[in-house]
Amino acid sequence: MQDLHGPGVSIATTEYTHDLGGEGIGGGVIANEVVKMPALFRVWAAPPGAPRWGYDAKQWMRDAYLRTAHLMGPIQEIPNPQARVTLAADVRDALGHRVARLSGAQHPESVRAAHALRRRAEQWMHASGARQVWSPPVQTGLSAGQHQAGTARMGTGPGDSVTDPYGRVHGHAGLWISDASLHVTNGGVNPVLTILALAYRGIGELAASGVGGR
Ligand SMILES: Cc1cc2nc3c(=O)[nH]c(=O)nc-3n(C[C@H](O)[C@H](O)[C@H](O)COP(=O)(O)OP(=O)(O)OC[C@H]3O[C@@H](n4cnc5c(N)ncnc54)[C@H](O)[C@@H]3O)c2cc1C
Repeated sequence: MQDLHGPGVSIATTEYTHDLGGEGIGGGVIANEVVKMPALFRVWAAPPGAPRWGYDAKQWMRDAYLRTAHLMGPIQEIPNPQARVTLAADVRDALGHRVARLSGAQHPESVRAAHALRRRAEQWMHASGARQVWSPPVQTGLSAGQHQAGTARMGTGPGDSVTDPYGRVHGHAGLWISDASLHVTNGGVNPVLTILALAYRGIGELAASGVGGR
C-alpha cells in the first residue's frame, strides 16, 4: 500500500497477539497504519536525519512519501494500579467542568512487550526488502488519544472494581455501564469490537434480569 494512494490498513498479523515467545506478557496485532496526509507524514513518520527544510526536504518527500509503509502494534497493556484518571484540581473546560487528569505510567511489562512487538515489526520490514527501517522510542506515559480504557473497570467485587462482569455497578441497583471504561485492558487489538461484544453480553444479562424491561 502507499500513503496518499491507499488502500489503507490491509496488511496485518495476529500471530503475536498472545505469544511473544517469552519476551513479554500478552502481545499485540501488527498492522500497517492508515493513509497519512503529507504534513502528518512529515512530523510523524520521517526518519531521524531526514532533511527538515528547503530543497533537500522537498526532494526527500518526493522520494519517501510514496515509498514508506508505517506499521503499528497496539499491545495488550498490563493494568497498573499506579496509573490513574482523576479530576484536575484547577483546570476546567469551557462548561466549567473539571477536566480529566492522567497520572502514573505504563506498567514495565507493557513497555517490555512493546519493545518485543517492535522488534518483530522491524523483522517484517527487513524481510519485505525495506531499504531503511526506523521507529520512534516506545512511549512509557499514558495515552488518551484514541484507545481510552478503564476508570470503571469490571470485576467480581467492589474492592477492586466498579461493576460486575456484565457492567452492573456494584451496590447500585439498576445502574449499568456499557463502554470502554469497563476494560481492564483493551487487549492486543483496537478496542471497538470488544466494546460491542461486552455491550451485547451486558444487554443480554440486563434483559434476562428483567431490570429496565418493565
Ligand atoms: C481517530 C480515531 C480512530 C480510531 N480508530 C479505531 C479503529 O480503527 N478501530 C477501533 O477498534 N477503535 C478505533 N478508535 C477507538 C474507538 O473509537 C473508541 O475506543 C470507542 O469509540 C470508545 O467507545 P466508548 O463508547 O467507550 O466511548 P465514545 O465512543 O467516546 O462515547 C462516549 C460518548 O459519551 C458522550 N458524552 C461525553 N460526555 C458526556 C456527558 N457529560 N453527557 C452526555 N454524554 C457525554 C460523548 O459525546 C460520546 O458520544 C479510534 C478512535 C479515534 C479517536
